[in-house]
Amino acid sequence: MGVTVIKEAGLCFGVKRATQLAFIAAANQSGPVFTLGPLIHNPQVVAELIQAGVTVISDLKQVEQGTLIVRSHGLHPKILEQARRMGLNIVDATCPFVKKVQRYAAALREEGYQVVIIGDEDHPEVQGIKGCSGNEIVVLGDEKEIQQVDLGKKLGIVAQTTQSDKNFSAIVGKLAGSAQEIKIYNTICKATSIRQKATLGLAQQVDIMIVVGGRNSANTNRLVQLCRQVETPTYLVEIAGEIDPHWFKGKHKIGVSAGASTPHRIISQVVERLRAFS
Ligand code: SF4
Repeated sequence: MGVTVIKEAGLCFGVKRATQLAFIAAANQSGPVFTLGPLIHNPQVVAELIQAGVTVISDLKQVEQGTLIVRSHGLHPKILEQARRMGLNIVDATCPFVKKVQRYAAALREEGYQVVIIGDEDHPEVQGIKGCSGNEIVVLGDEKEIQQVDLGKKLGIVAQTTQSDKNFSAIVGKLAGSAQEIKIYNTICKATSIRQKATLGLAQQVDIMIVVGGRNSANTNRLVQLCRQVETPTYLVEIAGEIDPHWFKGKHKIGVSAGASTPHRIISQVVERLRAFS
């Protein structure tokens, strides 16, 4: 069996930066160091951070002092303000590309546009962007949801950074037909687009795809969806130990991709185990 790995696999810039900032904070701060929710959507890396002294809290009420590391997805401005009022030391590890989406959303609101975010309503990145977008904000996960929301005539569109190009284009296409005025910022992260294209291309050439990443990671799940759209049998694994040899019966070509928060070390372990079957 041959194993091919997309060359884009591994931590993206924003996740690498957030992880480094968190490890540095854990090593240098004297008081408690914590994140509101997991720093990134990779349970193995989050476990390493906990070992290094970065705890995960779910509410600022759980702490009185210390260092808050803002995760790569960013934070709702009200929560950030609350952290400042509490006098917490803040290390802002928000990915600069996510910050850019927040700035665009705020500018659109200022210019009188109804902000439309193309993304997953419950995702922490979208929650942070919502906080910058004003009261008329609408979040659309797919084109079918357009009928269920109240839209004005002046729409300002941004995207969650890990959206697929296809979903973004489909929704923008529909909205363009109904609005009088529309301003669009395609804020899908380039690293995400490139990784998705490479994954889709590989999925079309192999018999089976293995996608490595956190089950709670939106961008990892999107890669799985893309592979399945071209009907390639696809499995999501977080670690090498989850691979089942039965998946490869009658398969000759294996493709491997990975989410933006999956370290090279975990990808290498997966590839090593796959090559052991060859
Ligand atoms: S995928 Fe892009 S936007 Fe998201 S954290 Fe990585 S570099 Fe930043």
